[in-house]
Amino acid sequence: MIYPFVFILGLIFGSFLNVLADRLSKRKTILGRSKCDSCNHELAWNDLIPIVSYMMLGGKCRYCKASFSIQYPLVELFTAGVFVMTWYVSTEQLLLPRSSVLIHIFHMAIAAVLIVMLLADLRYQIIPDEMQIALLLIGFLKIMYVGVVFGQSDILQLMQMVGQHIILGVAVMAPLLAVFLLTKGRGMGFGDVKLTFVIGVILGMVSGYLALYIGFVSGGIIGALLLVTKRGKRKTKIAFGPFLILGFYVMLFFEPEIILFMSRIYGF
Ligand SMILES: [Zn+2]
Repeated sequence: MIYPFVFILGLIFGSFLNVLADRLSKRKTILGRSKCDSCNHELAWNDLIPIVSYMMLGGKCRYCKASFSIQYPLVELFTAGVFVMTWYVSTEQLLLPRSSVLIHIFHMAIAAVLIVMLLADLRYQIIPDEMQIALLLIGFLKIMYVGVVFGQSDILQLMQMVGQHIILGVAVMAPLLAVFLLTKGRGMGFGDVKLTFVIGVILGMVSGYLALYIGFVSGGIIGALLLVTKRGKRKTKIAFGPFLILGFYVMLFFEPEIILFMSRIYGF
């Protein structure tokens, strides 16, 4: 059984991704030890065990007794859950001729990058460029790897496949870029536009547009719910990034199901 191992890996990564999201958004170095935000005391290894340290210390700093945010253990658990789910859904997803641990690793890496993007966007309304580039590179590697698994060994042909996916990325980005230019950036951030390019590269055109569609619909539903429940005002800005990330994740792992579902609804 690999799942307990994947879960623990997720807890450890969750703690790291949390720090990464904060440091990239604040343009701080990603190297260096973690410190307490209140007293600046360097945290020891036994302050940093996911979940366990938080519970042992009652959610407080060992040195100055300031409370740590409940977000830390929650993000660790969330990451562990996403890792387990990602491992599970990426098993048979590509119908590869032979089973592949590498494809799991590509998908776990994508999930990790998406979690950093999600945290950064929710906390700071930023999607760090480093994560966009990381996602794009993972996408290129996956495209070439899948090509190799299906018998393509010519490097020029593999590069050509990557080139075709770049064109698809531009096609998927085009409508959002148009909205961005027409609204002069008031409608959405440029980070969202860049992300749709990367999504298009990885998913291709049909699934890329479906990811946008899922993002708009889920964002619209949440926005309407916030209005109805008076949690938000008409002017409350809802970040589009988290919904775009959701749409991408759903299309990456549930592509056949979603396409079947859409064809039933819209009758194509
Ligand atoms: Zn402290």
